[in-house]
Amino acid sequence: MQREVRTVWNNCLRIIQEGIPEQSFKTWFEPIVPLKLENHTLTIQVPSQFFYEWLEENYVHLLRKAIDAEIGRHGLLEYSITVDKGGEKKPPIDIRVTAPKPSMPPPPQRQRTVEPDIRSPFNLPDLDGNELTSYLNPIYTFDNYVEGDCNRLARAAGIAVAQKPGVTSFNPLMVFGGVGLGKTHLVQAIGNHIKGHNSGKFVLYVSTEKFTNQYIIAVRNNNVQNFSNFYLRVDVLILDDVQFLSGKEKTQETFFHIFNHLHQSGKQIIMTSDRPPRELQGLEDRLLSRFKWGMTADLQTPDLETRIAIILKKLQADGIDIPYEVVEYLAHSIDTNVRELEGVIVSLMAHASLNRRDIDLDLARSTLRHIVVDSEKVVTVEGILEAVTGHFNVELSELKGKSRKKETVYPRQVAMYLAKEFTDLSLKSIGYHFGGRDHSTVIHAIQTISEAMQTNKKIQAEVNQLQRHFGGK
Ligand code: ADP
Ligand code: MG
Repeated sequence: MQREVRTVWNNCLRIIQEGIPEQSFKTWFEPIVPLKLENHTLTIQVPSQFFYEWLEENYVHLLRKAIDAEIGRHGLLEYSITVDKGGEKKPPIDIRVTAPKPSMPPPPQRQRTVEPDIRSPFNLPDLDGNELTSYLNPIYTFDNYVEGDCNRLARAAGIAVAQKPGVTSFNPLMVFGGVGLGKTHLVQAIGNHIKGHNSGKFVLYVSTEKFTNQYIIAVRNNNVQNFSNFYLRVDVLILDDVQFLSGKEKTQETFFHIFNHLHQSGKQIIMTSDRPPRELQGLEDRLLSRFKWGMTADLQTPDLETRIAIILKKLQADGIDIPYEVVEYLAHSIDTNVRELEGVIVSLMAHASLNRRDIDLDLARSTLRHIVVDSEKVVTVEGILEAVTGHFNVELSELKGKSRKKETVYPRQVAMYLAKEFTDLSLKSIGYHFGGRDHSTVIHAIQTISEAMQTNKKIQAEVNQLQRHFGGK
């Protein structure tokens, strides 16, 4: 007689619960939903691919033990992964526990047909049965684009354009901001929204580098006309990183014509740049003046609350629930850009997975100590604390603690001084890493050390030695 799936799973959970710490149980087993039990196969639903891999890597023996006890040796476990990115539910993907790990192919992207004589300049086969590709990545949506003061205007303009492409006065829409602040995400979200709501419109995303390369190839092959004709067919053109047009006169000229034509025909143009239009050097004035016709909106570095919201969103997308203190710690530790923040979350997951540990504050600290971004070792507050405690032979708990003894206060102030010099952390975040001190204490520490360095050669030498350790003077 087939027993009820829930009962079987609950019995499995009881066995599992005995074998692991409570926090791990909560994180990795409570979110699981038992779906069905058929032919000795128990199907459980897990929130993400990462979640599934984690279970397989860390708890496969425990799961096996539970299945053995409840279903028997011939019992099988099947996972069903709910891919839920930004609220858009996709059908679950089934994976057998015995099967190799799958890589999920991106969903096919199709667009409306065009006359076959307009050949696409894209290298990849583009005209797939006369249908055009948008080159949009469906993972970028408005739903998973966290709103904050840093992006409110740009996001609102983006939504307006997404709802009424080519109709608002936001044409062109120019989004600018530093690296990793979410320009590509935002403009792709606009593209995906338009594509999803207007099946007739041909939306095209292209990086300026690719646009330039296509143009160069077109010149070489003597078919610039074809190149232009292709772009004139586009209803919504998204050109990413236009700063790369600088100095490329011929490409600019061609883009100028495409721009004018599209704009006059009421087509939407969306662009991004790593700097404001007035700072775009090597761009023709007539092109620059076009960029200013519509709407220019910038993206700033996200503040603490937005960083926390972004981390929570990323974790939610992966179906993991880590202690809030870890989230807060990460948000206080990385405040340069979102890409870096994501990189650290990924490293953290990787470290947890490799070391078979849960994600806790200790793991977050040790991950940050060794973080490497773009093959350069980044100085983190953890690295500074490690060096300073080593150098002065004081305990970390003392640096973070309340002691006002000179032997503790001095190293603490030096560490704060170095944190200000070598990281981009705000005074508030630096204070957080020193036992939650407020920003005025941090300012005082920095002033004290810089003054002491002017007047006291020994202190100057000592701080310089530490500075050299981090690649400073
Ligand atoms: P840019 O193009 O400005 O260099 P990206 O758009 O590539 O930056 O963003 C870098 C990463 O940060 C991406 O993975 C993106 O999804 C993420 N990201 C940036 N801003 C946000 C945000 N507001 N909410 C959620 N994720 C964000
Ligand atoms: Mg980008």
